[in-house]
Amino acid sequence: MSKARFDAVIAGGGIVGAACAAALTLRGMKVALVERDVMGSGATAAGMGHIVVMDDSPAQFALTRYSQQLWQELAGALSFRAEYEACGTLWIAADEEEMAEAGRKQSYYRDRGVPAQLLSAADLAAAEPNLRAGLAGALLVPEDAVVYPPAAALHLAKIAQARGTSLYVGRSVKQMAAGEALLDNGDLLCAPILINAIGASAPELTPGVPVRKRKGHLVITDRQPGFVRHQLVELGYLKSAHSVTADSVAFNAQPRKTGQALIGSSRQFGSESTGVDPAMVSAMLARAAEYMPALKVLPAIRIWTGFRAATPDKLPLIGPWPADSTLWMATGHEGLGITTSLATAALLSAQIAETDAPIPVEPYLPARFSSSTALLGPNSFAARKPSAKETS
Ligand SMILES: Cc1cc2nc3c(=O)[nH]c(=O)nc-3n(C[C@H](O)[C@H](O)[C@H](O)COP(=O)(O)OP(=O)(O)OC[C@H]3O[C@@H](n4cnc5c(N)ncnc54)[C@H](O)[C@@H]3O)c2cc1C
Repeated sequence: MSKARFDAVIAGGGIVGAACAAALTLRGMKVALVERDVMGSGATAAGMGHIVVMDDSPAQFALTRYSQQLWQELAGALSFRAEYEACGTLWIAADEEEMAEAGRKQSYYRDRGVPAQLLSAADLAAAEPNLRAGLAGALLVPEDAVVYPPAAALHLAKIAQARGTSLYVGRSVKQMAAGEALLDNGDLLCAPILINAIGASAPELTPGVPVRKRKGHLVITDRQPGFVRHQLVELGYLKSAHSVTADSVAFNAQPRKTGQALIGSSRQFGSESTGVDPAMVSAMLARAAEYMPALKVLPAIRIWTGFRAATPDKLPLIGPWPADSTLWMATGHEGLGITTSLATAALLSAQIAETDAPIPVEPYLPARFSSSTALLGPNSFAARKPSAKETS
């Protein structure tokens, strides 16, 4: 057993932990990053990699928009393996009611400086010829992008390592509190700052963290370049209710630089199994085929699952953990952790360094939940109304 001292110890080498390590080392801190598997192997490897501005709440908008801008700044430095591409999102309206929602969304974005353009039915058909006929139109958000998340996480971990971060890969944090992180081989890492960035497993290290696993499935097809051209997301959540309590599916398709189409998405609480659920996959693909019938002819070559880290109010936990003055949270990103990883790191490092944060941090502070009532009080998962502007 050995003992080492750092300025900060981060548990979890997903995209969030890697981004935090890169940001903290930029401030001159001596950082240890501990990953039990390989870098970027958790939800980061399972995620869709849609970098998307969302407007479910002002706080969600602020975090996603700011982070998207950080991705734009980083994009030029990413290697081709990260497959960053600003393909834009098409929010698809199936009927006039959904077209009205597209119009509302456009106004919201336009008022806040996010380019967004309404497409007629004919414009949509020209932009995405494999969609079914008869759709009402769409909202194009051209600055949204896609990235290959595990490669992006590795890029951030390498930046952190080049700035002096010590990587502990294949090591698990067994306990983390009061300035000490105990590893599975008995090594002790001591630091005044401990960061829980283990995603959906966060409560294993910090009991009481209001995070639940929310399972998702994705399917990837064989290569057919140009089959899908933008990230496609249905606005039909208005009726299909990609709800917070029940199992749900929604149409979501992404063009990969490889020419493959990545198809999602499903959401399930209460399933701890990593296995593929054939009923969920069938429902998800049936939904996709409603929008894009031609998908049926593309061979699916792989199906996988992953766990999103869901919080009761759909906002991540970024900041100090009230019960332990050495402990900080960087978790709870649900279906937006690839998008918001860079902003999370910026907000967390600003708080730790006690400097001005680029956007207000208050909506994301863990202190908004009391640990004893987080899962039972008015903000509980059960009490949350379905508000399903959830994409992937
Ligand atoms: C199906 C699906 C689709 C998604 N699509 C998108 C999308 O399009 N856009 C988007 O922005 N987000 C998306 N997400 C969400 C996104 O993938 C996650 O929010 C993000 O990857 C979370 O990153 P993380 O670093 O917090 O967690 P993780 O990537 O899970 O990283 C946590 C790491 O901690 C490690 N770990 C766990 N326990 C320990 C321990 N005790 N000690 C050491 N290490 C430990 C794990 O091995 C893991 O590597 C999607 C998620 C899913 C499941």
